[in-house]
Order: sequence, then structure tokens, then C-alpha cells
Amino acid sequence: ADVRLLGPAEIRDLAEMLDLQPTKKLGQNFVIDANTVRRIVTVAGVRAGETVVEIGPGLGSLTLGLLSADASVVAVEIDGRLAEQLSKTVQLLAPGCRLTVVHRDALRIEELPGEPVRLVANLPYNVSVPVLLHFLEHFPSLRSGVVMVQAEVGHRLAAVPGSKVYGSPSVKAAWYGSFRTAGNVGRQVFWPVPNVDSVLVAFERADEQPGDESLRRATFEVVDHAFGQRRKMLRQSLAPLFGDSARSSAALEAAGVPTTARGEELEVGGFIAIGRALLAANG
Ligand code: SAM
Repeated sequence: ADVRLLGPAEIRDLAEMLDLQPTKKLGQNFVIDANTVRRIVTVAGVRAGETVVEIGPGLGSLTLGLLSADASVVAVEIDGRLAEQLSKTVQLLAPGCRLTVVHRDALRIEELPGEPVRLVANLPYNVSVPVLLHFLEHFPSLRSGVVMVQAEVGHRLAAVPGSKVYGSPSVKAAWYGSFRTAGNVGRQVFWPVPNVDSVLVAFERADEQPGDESLRRATFEVVDHAFGQRRKMLRQSLAPLFGDSARSSAALEAAGVPTTARGEELEVGGFIAIGRALLAANG
């Protein structure tokens, strides 16, 4: 569709009109650069006619990019003034395009209009990982997506075992599918300018989930314990979970994981095997 994207002047006008003071608490840094928007839409591979969910549309920079690719957009925004303005902005700059605005906290959403197949968002920094995991968990229709996050967080999401930044977000993300970084974004494309750089992260959901909800919970519990004390061996860090270190050693053996292993070297399959052992131990 023929859509006008927002640049610095439009963002400034909208912010002035709304008397908007962007808040840090809500991670409100708006993209003022149309090229960045085009890049995100391209990397995401958005196709005409498909339903895309966007978390935190803000003033609509990315929303308009998604609509220009003829996607049907469901946008979830916590800030009432922004949610209200968004429909008006889209009516003006992208008339006839399909947008549904949901005014809610994305972390509390368990149902969405339509069945989004893709998630594309410039995520609010302070809740980026929980929001992403929440959506992967609650919306199995989501097959893939691209999110813009703080660089450090993006590298964690995409990290593999043995990497310095491999941790709990890396393993939890890997439960759902494969994650990779897809390009750096400088801080100057935002207003207000944040004090960190960003990175694009692309993901594809695995064809099959590794297990049911009880196994996921058990696995995530193991992961949280394993990285709570990252330099310890698993048999020590998991001792509280299994009762004592003799039991955690036995569980590791049952899972086929060396009892001297540390969390930072174990791939998601290993954590899942320990999660199974935890379920078995709890009867
Ligand atoms: N997508 C816009 C852009 O690229 O210019 C804005 C991105 S800004 C980094 C994050 C947006 O998420 C803000 O509009 C903020 O109000 C919204 N937000 C923050 N926490 C949220 C939550 N828990 N649920 C939904 N939206 C949230």
C-alpha cells in the first residue's frame, strides 16, 4: 500500500500534539528513521495479507512500515494516549489499511484478535525478554519474527553454549526455536536517544515443541537454578532443586549429563533431559 512513513519532523509534531514526555519506565524510544523501519520489515520478510502482531507500536513508526507491506497488523500498546492516537495516525497516513489496536499490557495478554503468524516489534527494553517469551508461549500461531532489542540482550538471546553471554534467556529462547542476530542498529535512529545500541534478532519457531507444559516448566526451573550461580557445577547449583547434591548427581546421570558439567556449556537438549529427570523425581 502507498503509506507515508514517519521521520523526525512527524515524530516531533505527534509528540508535541500529544504533549508527550516519553518515559524510561515504559522504554519509550521511538524510531525516527524510515530506513530503519524499511530494514526491519525486509529482514522480517513480511508478506502481503498475513497477520503480524506488533508489541509497543508507540507513535506508529514500525506499524506504518508493516502496513506498507500490506500486512494485517494487531498492535498491543500499554500507553492509552499512544493506543488512541495510533488509529488516527493510520487513518491519516495509511487509509484503508488493516490495523487493530489492543490497549493492554502485553505481558497480560492471553488472546489476540486473529491468528498472527509473525511478531515484529521494537520491544520496550525493560521487559523485552519476558514479553518475547510470553508471546512465544501463548501464541503458537507465531512461526517467526524479528525484534529490535538492546544489543546485550539480543546477543544473549542468540548465544550458543560456551559463549560468554550464554545464559537463561539463550536456553529459554532455544526451547521455542532458533534465534540469530540480524544486524546492528545505532542509537541515533531513536528519539529520545537511548544510552545503548540495539540489535535486530530474527527467530523461527521449531516445527515441534520439545515437550508439554509440565516439561517446559521443569526445564525452565532447572535453567533458572543453573544460571543463578553460573560458575558452579550443575550438581551443586541444582542441589536445592533435587534435595541434595547426591540426588542432583543421580539426576544428571539419568539425564546423560556429566556430573562435572556447568550450565554455560550445556545446550537446551541437556537442560530438557534434566527437566525430565526432575519431573520423574517429583513423581
Ligand atoms: N514501535 C515504536 C517505534 O519503533 O517507534 C515504539 C517502540 S518503544 C521502544 C516501546 C513501546 O512499547 C512504547 O510505545 C511503550 O509505551 C510500549 N510498551 C512498554 N511496555 C509495554 C507493555 N508491557 N505492553 C505493551 N506495550 C508496552
